Amino acid sequence: MPALIESDEHKALREAVAAFATGRSPAPGTDNRQFWQEAAELGYIGVNLPEAYGGGGGGITELCLVLEEMGAAGNPLLMMIVSPAICGTVITRFGTDAQKREWLPALADGSRLMAFGITEPDAGSNSHRITTTARRDGTDWLLTGRKVFVSGVDIADATLVVGRTEDARTGRLKPCLFIVPRDTPGFGRRQIDMELNAAEKQFELTLDDVRLPAGALVGDEDAGLLQLFAGLNPERIMTAAFAIGMGRYALARAVGYARDRTVWNAPIGAHQAIAHPLAQAHIDLELARLMMQKAAHLYDAGDDTGAGEAANMAKYAAAEACVKAVDQAVHTLGGNGLTREFGLASLITAARVARIAPVSREMILNYVSHQTLGLPKSY
Ligand SMILES: Cc1cc2nc3c(=O)[nH]c(=O)nc-3n(C[C@H](O)[C@H](O)[C@H](O)COP(=O)(O)OP(=O)(O)OC[C@H]3O[C@@H](n4cnc5c(N)ncnc54)[C@H](O)[C@@H]3O)c2cc1C
Repeated sequence: MPALIESDEHKALREAVAAFATGRSPAPGTDNRQFWQEAAELGYIGVNLPEAYGGGGGGITELCLVLEEMGAAGNPLLMMIVSPAICGTVITRFGTDAQKREWLPALADGSRLMAFGITEPDAGSNSHRITTTARRDGTDWLLTGRKVFVSGVDIADATLVVGRTEDARTGRLKPCLFIVPRDTPGFGRRQIDMELNAAEKQFELTLDDVRLPAGALVGDEDAGLLQLFAGLNPERIMTAAFAIGMGRYALARAVGYARDRTVWNAPIGAHQAIAHPLAQAHIDLELARLMMQKAAHLYDAGDDTGAGEAANMAKYAAAEACVKAVDQAVHTLGGNGLTREFGLASLITAARVARIAPVSREMILNYVSHQTLGLPKSY
């Protein structure tokens, strides 16, 4: 009989990914393309994509499990949140046949990557305010606007850009998604100088009358909003996995240290002031994982609405658990917590990413207050 929470197959996948990723952490800030490629060849990157297009035929359940284990081994692949989870899902569910054929096999085998750009400098958390605009020019589209904090644009073959276009019938603006190849004329990027020791870089993008063929528009022009929502739940579930993996990594380093380090008569882990916060961090990470599994399960079962609430809560819980686990891990190591050699200090900033992106802690609390609890909206 399958286990209630995780099947034997899932446990085996966890073990295989952990064995593959352990001991393979790149030096902080260095390129991880080789690791990505090998992971893809083993079927890990495209595990959620359809078998008909070279993927593993699984769901977000399997993909988030892979990312969590990579993070727990000290090797999180941030672009998994974007390339297979958001872009792969949107193209699978809404792409044209030509887009599926062009992109899905390449996203699955790791030969190509896709970034995702929605955030704009003047809109921030309020994505209703985005102004990147697409207008028709014959059968082509011309895309103009700005994006900010978009991850991995330099290593991605294309970016899935969220814009808006005018509805011919109603005159209202509606969202639309475009696949913009990296070297398209008018598509500029500037690297943002982040205090993050990660392999993936963030970019500000400028789109200046970027000319795109009709086939660059994802799927149907009227399905933009649905497409967007289809990508956002996997993004949140995967961000939870990213945070849980990082939290587990930090916690494991701290526990190992607390077992050995002795400055009085017993290892420091014998002091409850050290042991209890580590135990709490473990409990919080486990609870966050349970919510992540619920969200992934609902998503894979096709319950987008149920998954939306659970994905928000999972992302929230995982980010908070990760920030606390990293903070306590650094503290457990005393002075060594801040040395480069032990590698935990840089996680202090890295851990905060999941609290801000892709949707901030406060916006999730707004969602739960408003949508779940039915309280009045404050903004
Ligand atoms: C490392 C990293 C990678 C990223 N990668 C990508 C990417 O690949 N693609 C992409 O499109 N974006 C990406 N982002 C952007 C990310 O999604 C945004 O930073 C995030 O959505 C928050 O937007 P903002 O930074 O403009 O903050 P703002 O919206 O300006 O918010 C600032 C603060 O105000 C709070 N706030 C705002 N509105 C409210 C409210 N109504 N009630 C209470 N508090 C509020 C927020 O919670 C936050 O604390 C990335 C960001 C980071 C840091």
